[in-house]
Amino acid sequence: MCGIVGVRSETGVSLGKLLEVLQGLQHRGQEASGFIGITVDGKEVGHRSFGLVSEVFKEYPKDLRLKVAIAHTRYSTHGESFKAENVQPFVGFIGGKMIALVHNGNLTNYFTLRESLENEGVIFRSTTDSEAILLLYAKETGTPQERLERLVKRVEGAWSILILDGEDLLAFRDPHGFRPLWMGRTGEEVWFASEDSALRSADIPPVKEVGIGEGVVVSKEVQGFQVETRRELPCSFELVYFARPDSHIFGRSVYKWRFLAGRILARHDDVKADVVVPVPDSGTIYAIGYSKESGLPFQMGLIRSHYAGRSFIQPSPDARRRTVRAKLFPVPSVISGKRIILIDDSLVRGTTMREILRMLKEVGAKEVHVRIGSPPVVSPCYFGIDTPTRQELAAARMDVPEIARFLEADSILYLPLDDFEAYLPNFCHSCFTGEYLVPVPEETNSP
Ligand code: SF4
Repeated sequence: MCGIVGVRSETGVSLGKLLEVLQGLQHRGQEASGFIGITVDGKEVGHRSFGLVSEVFKEYPKDLRLKVAIAHTRYSTHGESFKAENVQPFVGFIGGKMIALVHNGNLTNYFTLRESLENEGVIFRSTTDSEAILLLYAKETGTPQERLERLVKRVEGAWSILILDGEDLLAFRDPHGFRPLWMGRTGEEVWFASEDSALRSADIPPVKEVGIGEGVVVSKEVQGFQVETRRELPCSFELVYFARPDSHIFGRSVYKWRFLAGRILARHDDVKADVVVPVPDSGTIYAIGYSKESGLPFQMGLIRSHYAGRSFIQPSPDARRRTVRAKLFPVPSVISGKRIILIDDSLVRGTTMREILRMLKEVGAKEVHVRIGSPPVVSPCYFGIDTPTRQELAAARMDVPEIARFLEADSILYLPLDDFEAYLPNFCHSCFTGEYLVPVPEETNSP
């Protein structure tokens, strides 16, 4: 999963403003950050490296005036995490013109595509699927729209992209619409960002969500066009976990979905408890909804350190486990002697949740009932969320009572799949159902 940002302005915008928007997407990727652009006086500029937005550009002049630029914050799902060549944006030159790309998503036919491009004599510099899109785009001729129309016949999977084509900016959301992409506008500046919240927090009014299979070219004019639409499959996991709660994606408020899911969960529950406690921050809104529906008091029985990384986003499992105790602190006065409803958005491996339960029991929790605001994750994602292999997924290896025993929980309840699908129709639910509605790579079909 990644965050992408783009801007075009005849009079120029500061690099500082571009980075402000990019920082608003930091939750989508913390491994590396980069930007590339052309200044108002025609200079090509760019910088990319490993680290957070606040670290990577520390020494870079923020008052640089950019006419056009794209930026990326990376969380690797394809290609080695710490290979410098895999840090975006990707850039190339044709006849002296710069072409660059940032990508959010995952291509499902990358290996086939790479092989066929290599057979055509194309050389890759990285091991990521994103570079294949740039190379394909660069090989094509014609207008950006014509190039995209041919690209869409060869590229499969999830790809929200921004392309810098000389001084033109091109935005595109794939024909299934897996990943979000928003357009914003202030004066003559035209902006794109993965989530509208990142635009709003930088005082850029969001104008519209880029449509499924829609392209937008920004030069002196703005021109939108429909390339192709297939079965709608926006990612339900974006609503469950990934997107910022103040975002509005796929036509829905992320906050409202999480609140409703908490309420639905409570309607299915009959356990006796004293208090509802979220796993912060991911479970907080679900817990508010659960508390509202059940009438049980909501308490912050776990405090989150804001100086430790998100555990899900850490690339190695060991790092994830180690960060749990550095990140979450139980509040004994809330927990001790109580029957706790402990709520989180999802349960993937279960190792983080097991550690949390141990911490709660250590401070005297009488009972802990785990409640999950989404159905069991039974299958991996091939479309840009770094879910682990099938063998590592708790719900792929164990049934529900076994998961409760593994977590050392007094009970566990998931949001029922039927409700999830009924409330979120026309979404991708593949990691919750195990059924893929578009072809996935053969060699990883049964991980
Ligand atoms: S498989 Fe799951 S995580 Fe991947 S796109 Fe579909 S819903 Fe999202």
